[in-house]
Amino acid sequence: MKLAASPTSVDLVPLGERLRLISYFRAAAIAVLLAAWILLPTSRGIEFGALAGVSLGYFALMAAIEWYWSHSGRRARFIFGIFAMSDALFIGWATYGQAGLDTPVRSLILLQIITICLLASFRTGIKLALFSAWLLLGAVYVQEAGILNTLGGEVAAFGGDDYRGLAVDITVYFLVAIATTAFAAVNERELRRRRYDLEALAQFALKLDQAETPGQVATSLLDAVADIYDCEPSLVVRKDGDHGIRVVAARGIPSTGAPVPLSAVPVVSRAMESDQTRLVARRGEETDALLARFAPTANVAVMPLHGHHGAAAGALLLEQPARRGSRIEKRIIGMLEQFTSHASLALENANLLAEVRALAITDPLTGLANRRHLDNVLERSTSQVRRGNGTLALMMIDIDHFKNLNDTHGHQMGDEMLRRVARALEVDLRAGDLAARYGGEEFSIVMPGSRAEEVLDAGERLRRSIAALDGPVPVTVSIGVAWAPEHGLSRDDLVRNADAALYRAKEGGRNRVEMAAPPMKLADAS
Ligand code: GH3
Ligand code: MG
Ligand code: MG
Repeated sequence: MKLAASPTSVDLVPLGERLRLISYFRAAAIAVLLAAWILLPTSRGIEFGALAGVSLGYFALMAAIEWYWSHSGRRARFIFGIFAMSDALFIGWATYGQAGLDTPVRSLILLQIITICLLASFRTGIKLALFSAWLLLGAVYVQEAGILNTLGGEVAAFGGDDYRGLAVDITVYFLVAIATTAFAAVNERELRRRRYDLEALAQFALKLDQAETPGQVATSLLDAVADIYDCEPSLVVRKDGDHGIRVVAARGIPSTGAPVPLSAVPVVSRAMESDQTRLVARRGEETDALLARFAPTANVAVMPLHGHHGAAAGALLLEQPARRGSRIEKRIIGMLEQFTSHASLALENANLLAEVRALAITDPLTGLANRRHLDNVLERSTSQVRRGNGTLALMMIDIDHFKNLNDTHGHQMGDEMLRRVARALEVDLRAGDLAARYGGEEFSIVMPGSRAEEVLDAGERLRRSIAALDGPVPVTVSIGVAWAPEHGLSRDDLVRNADAALYRAKEGGRNRVEMAAPPMKLADAS
């Protein structure tokens, strides 16, 4: 568990608030003591004036101490102990003094033990039980010595039934302390857990805010479930068209990201279809290509990720750690579902953003890079060459007599041929090359790191493959090629030189590849 601030280190209720609650209890105890004096004739061992005066004086004193503590900034926990002991002393004096040992008002002592157990700690509660027992025994001594009035009560004596009654009383003090704390702890643990879960979810939401691409969102999700719930290995898949899925991110499992047909992943596709988490305990006859990547005996949860209008857009698959037993806890599943619903939303946003970004750099007719993207890439690549990093080739490609094709077969056929030429341009590309539509019936290919012969060969192959394209009339292209650094170190120079070569190809009869003229050397010119 790796949360920045472990929630268990923080008290659920602040110290000052607890002190205030204890003072409410004190006020209620004083009210009960005064009411007992008025209502029970057997509870008048202390003069009313003395009882009321001491009670109110005591309350005022404690309020002053509490005020001082809460404003001094020294919020020590031991103040609970001090408050509890002095309250016990006060309640002991008032109850035993009023009515001896045998009075219903003595249940105030049990109430105080419960209050302290709930508001302070088990240790303070036990200390208080011990102190109350000691006070009780003290009261017996004092009564036996005849110092206390024993108006209504019996004089308890050591030995015999009274002694056993005392022992029972003292045992009850401790049992009350233990039971109260134990039961309170059950609730408190659950509260702490929930608080921990909520903080984990909030931190995850923050992390999602920074994730821009679908891959980053998926990786954040996998990191979170591994860090917080120890669930690893894990992977996130998303729908790829109508009949397949693709792994977007994986943790602890090798993954290629190649598309997987839905028919190969029956369990995952059923989870996505039903939009319900599926827990797969033992994998027998059912073969699922994705589940097969997990350990055969592991428990795997398949949790759908929702897309537009609630339809499943993907899934999270995770393995629960073996040490956590054979079942994944309901609480954890519930929390993971909250994580996946946050992630689903973020994934959808990231998908949209990726789509918009792709649209911004794509030519709508041909699907190639558009002019804006071409300019950026050329700018970046020529600046690399200027820094001495490698070479760069630029091909300018223009369809020959394209106007005629439009005029005789219509613009729709013209568009179709533009698309076919675009496909032909992509066939021969290597990683790092970029094919773009420069504008109209003109295209460009940027080829970093290519040697002159390679580019001329590539241009020649391209020219031939386009001339062989299917169409109502044969289509040919003229190609001009220029290099950086030989023909220029800037985008403009490179384009101008490639254009000049293209012009020569047109002049020379079209359907050919020309390379830019070798740059003139100053020495030759002189
Ligand atoms: P050249 O061999 O000298 O290049 O002759 P050309 O006819 O190809 O050259 P020109 O520049 O005269 O004509 C280009 C034509 O390309 C004109 C225009 O109608 C057509 N064109 C430009 N963009 C599009 C497009 O998006 N779709 C269609 N169908 N035609 C286009
Ligand atoms: Mg043209
Ligand atoms: Mg043309």
